[in-house]
Amino acid sequence: MRTQVGIVGAGPAGLLLSHLLHLEGIDSVVLEDRSRAYVESRVRAGVLEQGTVELLTDTGLGDRLHRESLVHRGLELRFDGEGHRIDLSALTGGRTITIYGQQEVVKDLIAARERDGGTVLFEVSDVAVDGLTSDRPTIAYTHDGRAHTLECDVVAGCDGFHGICRAAIPAGERTEYDRTYPFGWLGILARVGPSSDELVYTNHERGFSLLSVRSPEVCRMYLQCAPDEDIGAWSDERIWEELHTRTATRNGGFTLREGPIFEKGVAALRSFVCEPMQYGRLFLAGDAAHIVPATGAKGLNLAVADVRRLAEGLAQLFSGQGSDLLEHYSETCLRRVWRVQHFSWWMTSMLHRFGDDPYQHRLQIAELQYVTSSTAAATTLAENYVGLPL
Ligand SMILES: Cc1cc2nc3c(=O)[nH]c(=O)nc-3n(C[C@H](O)[C@H](O)[C@H](O)COP(=O)(O)OP(=O)(O)OC[C@H]3O[C@@H](n4cnc5c(N)ncnc54)[C@H](O)[C@@H]3O)c2cc1C
Repeated sequence: MRTQVGIVGAGPAGLLLSHLLHLEGIDSVVLEDRSRAYVESRVRAGVLEQGTVELLTDTGLGDRLHRESLVHRGLELRFDGEGHRIDLSALTGGRTITIYGQQEVVKDLIAARERDGGTVLFEVSDVAVDGLTSDRPTIAYTHDGRAHTLECDVVAGCDGFHGICRAAIPAGERTEYDRTYPFGWLGILARVGPSSDELVYTNHERGFSLLSVRSPEVCRMYLQCAPDEDIGAWSDERIWEELHTRTATRNGGFTLREGPIFEKGVAALRSFVCEPMQYGRLFLAGDAAHIVPATGAKGLNLAVADVRRLAEGLAQLFSGQGSDLLEHYSETCLRRVWRVQHFSWWMTSMLHRFGDDPYQHRLQIAELQYVTSSTAAATTLAENYVGLPL
């Protein structure tokens, strides 16, 4: 089989790239090792930056998104038992964030690829890339029990943090920056309406918590926990009790609404960047190249920013207008990647409990007081949170 762009991974990065390339008249094949049902139900991110929503809308993916999503104009930082609203829209000239689950974005993308006659192969195995420094790189894979080779002009490594593409760059040709945090997030989905109109980020002496939402009937909530926390030790009762404790306000004015929990899990928090994001004819995008702790709600948005750049570069290449955009792909992406790395690290550092160090806790409170009282500081948070221009 032959295609112009061979894409490894049908997460948001790989599927959106395939969709953007189709709109430019460029042929691609997406290879995914999981089943379609699995990728369509994988619960992960849920906050879309305005630029992400605009891109999805402009490329014909906005119908269900605009019908079913929730638009937020602010968020709350809660500490010392008091809530402080950050007016994201007022601080950014009217920009907003949109709540729409990553799995919904993935479903819309798969439906669009299907409608447009795109090729997305699920449940492939033994995926291996080769010939990356030649003009004709290949991707070997097994599908329906048969071995195949896909010949391409370019390979896009959109296979997430645990994929095979990043490792195909020789170790001497890449530098990896890695930071793990001494905590993780215990996340739940509960069938209940939101307790607050906007997201609530809490710094509490027992640890961070986040009240988020997925739809008017479903909420997503998180608790800071140990990175290797045993989810089996957390009954629904214990989770609610801890959420009540961490989100309580001093004046008692806040009521956390409870509902049946239908999903729970623990995720570790990590910061990671691989430089460069390209090697020969291989281009990495999304989590394959970088990871951010979810506190800044940036992982999915950063993947979208990468593939937008990559699609532009590939459109230039295949229309015979040169390759300078592709040559500078890594450099261009990494500027945004490191800005987002800093923001996500900063939000994480300000809101989580790092052991029992009272000095650090006082610093966090000083910073939170500043962010919630200075327009300049609040604007820094707001413009990063809604997303810097693509
Ligand atoms: C548990 C969890 C919770 C998260 N929560 C949030 C959040 O609340 N907010 C936020 O902003 N971000 C969150 N993120 C991050 C966000 O989901 C990612 O940044 C986003 O999924 C990146 O998209 P991607 O397409 O680059 O990678 P992925 O979504 O990881 O997609 C990669 C795809 O490649 C496939 N693949 C892997 N290896 C192979 C192979 N060898 N061959 C073929 N296919 C392969 C995978 O199955 C997957 O479908 C979370 C991530 C995780 C893991």
